[in-house]
Amino acid sequence: MSPAFVITLTFTLLCVAQCYPSKRILSETLAEREDSQDFEYTHPMKLNNSIEEEELSVSALIEKANRNIGQKLDKPLIVFGDIAVTGGLHNADPCTSKKCKWVKSPNGKVYVPYEISTRYSPNETYKIEEGLKSFTTSTCVRFRPRNKDDKDYLYIMTGSGCLSSIGRQGGLQKLFLDQEGCLHHHVIQHELLHALGFHHEHVRSDRDKHIRILRENIQCGEQHNFNKVNTTNLRTPYDYNSVMQYGRDFFSKNGKPTMIPIPDKNVEIGKAKKMSPNDILRVNRLYECNGYK
Ligand SMILES: [Zn+2]
Repeated sequence: MSPAFVITLTFTLLCVAQCYPSKRILSETLAEREDSQDFEYTHPMKLNNSIEEEELSVSALIEKANRNIGQKLDKPLIVFGDIAVTGGLHNADPCTSKKCKWVKSPNGKVYVPYEISTRYSPNETYKIEEGLKSFTTSTCVRFRPRNKDDKDYLYIMTGSGCLSSIGRQGGLQKLFLDQEGCLHHHVIQHELLHALGFHHEHVRSDRDKHIRILRENIQCGEQHNFNKVNTTNLRTPYDYNSVMQYGRDFFSKNGKPTMIPIPDKNVEIGKAKKMSPNDILRVNRLYECNGYK
């Protein structure tokens, strides 16, 4: 038995003993959440973003928005803080499902149909559309309104925190951007990058060369958020400024860091307010935009 396995097992057992049942074992189906939308719908005509919220990192906003979703005991539905799992964890990098990538058109564009819930106010809808459009200038991805022939599409809705599946799932694919706390440009881009097939920076395959996970500071029941994923990384460097990089106190139980950069622990991480050049490069390489491979 390896020392790393023994350490992980020890922390897991300690956490189970300390706080069972975990407050974040989740059971709601996505369909159940849609049914509960009316209850959660508030403030239809204005954005509720405070100045303080605008300053928060993507992980702080997502952790805050997702704090109270899904309290029923059954089986885990959400992994890595904001990734919805329906029928398996697809991942476009590397592709583990035939349908994980969105389809490229003969004209070289990757059209991703979407529909935005009418529960959003005009201002909120505008904010979401700005996020969708932000991919147009730098990538070949084109989010466009769904037409009746589109079978696979994103349905952007409010009511259950900030959540997305990884990559194309097939059929109606829910992407949650709650009116309360998720309508920030970097959070919208973050969730859209999940939908295009990307994971968090801190779980990528080579992360141990760039960050150190401090498991002793992780909240009970949240260890799984720090599991590594077998990503290919598309020949891009680890990027502390990626909009997919969470902050150093992500799921901290005591205010101390749960991850620190190495070798220089003082380097800022998780502060991106928009997609980084590496985030954009990955999209272009995954979808082979304009000659990128
Ligand atoms: Zn995420």
